[in-house]
Amino acid sequence: MTRIEEEKKTVAQMVEIYCKGHHHTKDGLCNECSALLDYACARLEHCKFGEKKPTCKKCPIHCYKPAMREQMKVAMRYAGPRMLWHHPVSAVKHLFREMKK
Ligand code: SF4
Ligand SMILES: [Zn+2]
Repeated sequence: MTRIEEEKKTVAQMVEIYCKGHHHTKDGLCNECSALLDYACARLEHCKFGEKKPTCKKCPIHCYKPAMREQMKVAMRYAGPRMLWHHPVSAVKHLFREMKK
C-alpha cells in the first residue's frame, strides 16, 4: 500500500468513528461526513509532498479550505483516542508519524 492509500484508509476509519459516534449512522457515513471524506481523499491525491508527506496535522502548508479544516479537526479530536481501540495498527503508525519531525 502506498503512503497516500494508507492515509486514505486511516482518514476513512477516523471519519467513520466520528460519524457513528456523532451522527449515529449504522452503515457507511452520513452525507456530511461522506463529503468530508471525499474532500480529504481529493486533497491527499493532490498532495504535493506525495509519498514523502508529513501527517496533515503537521503539514506546513495545510491545503484544506478553512471550513473543511475545522470540520476535520473536530472529527479527528473525537476519533483520535478511539482509534487505538478500533484500529490499533493504523493508530500506532499514525501516532508514530506525528511524532517524527
Ligand atoms: S494538508 Fe499537507 S500533507 Fe495533507 S494533503 Fe494537504 S498538502 Fe498534503
Ligand atoms: Zn456523519
